[in-house]
Amino acid sequence: MEKVKIDKDLCIGCGACAALCPKTFEIGDDMLAEVIDDEVNDEVKEVAENCPTEAIKIEKEDEDK
Ligand code: SF4
Repeated sequence: MEKVKIDKDLCIGCGACAALCPKTFEIGDDMLAEVIDDEVNDEVKEVAENCPTEAIKIEKEDEDK
């Protein structure tokens, strides 16, 4: 299982992720992106690759936990 996360220290709030993947990302009250659904799919991976500051992290979750 993989999960998507935002590193808020890197995010500049450009809004690209929320515009491209509104089911996964939204811009919060702090004007930075946040994850509303951490399920990873191909679209999410593509958005992560295109984040200008690489603030979108895809993390592998250990299956045994
Ligand atoms: S694309 Fe990257 S920098 Fe832009 S709002 Fe999303 S996480 Fe932040």
